[in-house]
Amino acid sequence: MNYSRYINSISAARKASPIREMKPFVLLLAKLLTQGSPDLVFLAGGVPNPNMFPFQSASIKLRDGSNIQLEGKLINDALQYGPTQGYGPLLSQLKEMQQKLHNPPCWTDTEVLITNGSQDGLCKAFEMMVNLNDHVIVQEPVYAGTLAILNPFKPKYIPVKCDANGLIPDLLRKSLENNWKSEDAQSLTSDIPKVLYVNPAGANPTGVSIPLERRQEIYQIAKDFDLIIFEDDPYYFLQFDKERTPSFLSIDTDGRVVRFDSLSKVLSSGIRLGYVTGPRALIEPISYHMQVSVLHASSLSQVLVSELLKQWGQEGFLGHVDRVQKFYLQQREVMLKAAETHLTAYHKLIFLLQGLAEWNVPQGGMFLWIKCLEISDTRSMIMERALKKDVILLPGREFMTDPNQPCPYMRASFSLATPENIDRGFRNLAELIREEIEL
Ligand code: PMP
Repeated sequence: MNYSRYINSISAARKASPIREMKPFVLLLAKLLTQGSPDLVFLAGGVPNPNMFPFQSASIKLRDGSNIQLEGKLINDALQYGPTQGYGPLLSQLKEMQQKLHNPPCWTDTEVLITNGSQDGLCKAFEMMVNLNDHVIVQEPVYAGTLAILNPFKPKYIPVKCDANGLIPDLLRKSLENNWKSEDAQSLTSDIPKVLYVNPAGANPTGVSIPLERRQEIYQIAKDFDLIIFEDDPYYFLQFDKERTPSFLSIDTDGRVVRFDSLSKVLSSGIRLGYVTGPRALIEPISYHMQVSVLHASSLSQVLVSELLKQWGQEGFLGHVDRVQKFYLQQREVMLKAAETHLTAYHKLIFLLQGLAEWNVPQGGMFLWIKCLEISDTRSMIMERALKKDVILLPGREFMTDPNQPCPYMRASFSLATPENIDRGFRNLAELIREEIEL
């Protein structure tokens, strides 16, 4: 693949930071020379003297009663600057996990980069590729954080609608074929889109997942029109089916998938760790961007997670994410029951009519995407009247490429509320909708 056509001029102009690139070499040289030559005075490093840091050790207790103890070299690594690509031991652990879980066909040309949450990687990846007024293809409804990254580029969005199985391949193909020929991808002057954004499992905000056959169809379309697929998959571990659906990365025979993973939903969102996996030629520019923005993701977070993974092993980690998945699955069941009781069953009983709303069963993640049947737009109801009914949700417009259009949807999260509160929230929501219909 010719990756240069995907990289915009700003990103192409960003070069490796000479000092950052030299650092591993300088440190190695210093180590070699000092071991063999104790008289050598090392004046090259630009790092602060750790003896001046007030912290000596750290101990973090896990819920299972065990401890992670950071002292000696570990606490030094945790408190010091580190390599941009990521803390070596964690990088190796994550690479091993990516290989095991996704077995990417182009593994030898694939790189992994640790970022400050997946949002950081996603933002820098878009900033690497998108130019002002470019066409960008996104699934719709789409994660609001993606719109927030893209909107300043004033993109010409090509929103592709989703159904109960996520992004609809036929619509994707039509929206491309109606405007371009596949040969346009080879032309330097064509305005053909270069990137397709998908959130394939337990999507935010719809909760739906794209089955494997659809992923294969979408991949084929990306091949035909030479698109790069941004696979934003923070709910990968929160899929409710017994088997996780194979990722786009796992079917990527060309090297056209950049995958974004997150530790936010399964370990901690505050540690701000995510990782980007994709072709080296596209990971490198993202890493150069990190070199000039944050230098690297937090060393403390990376050392902590690396020690946790060492203590648990890969099997232990996967056992943990299974428990997390089961929790969200239970929460989903509670919310579906509350929705059925208050938004549908009661109304059918009283009026023998349809209910107040409908929804798809979320296949992963933490969101229920609800369509009000007799309200054309939910924004004013939610923003102006929901709070008085003691219930807060997000209006659907926030997840649309054109937020000026009325939208009958809303997003409810089943992450935090207790079963009792979910039930109370939906009873209040039903009242709110009834009042809105009567307004
Ligand atoms: N993508 C999607 C679809 C998300 O829902 C989120 C979290 N809200 C992110 C990316 C960002 O996650 P992280 O905490 O890893 O930055």
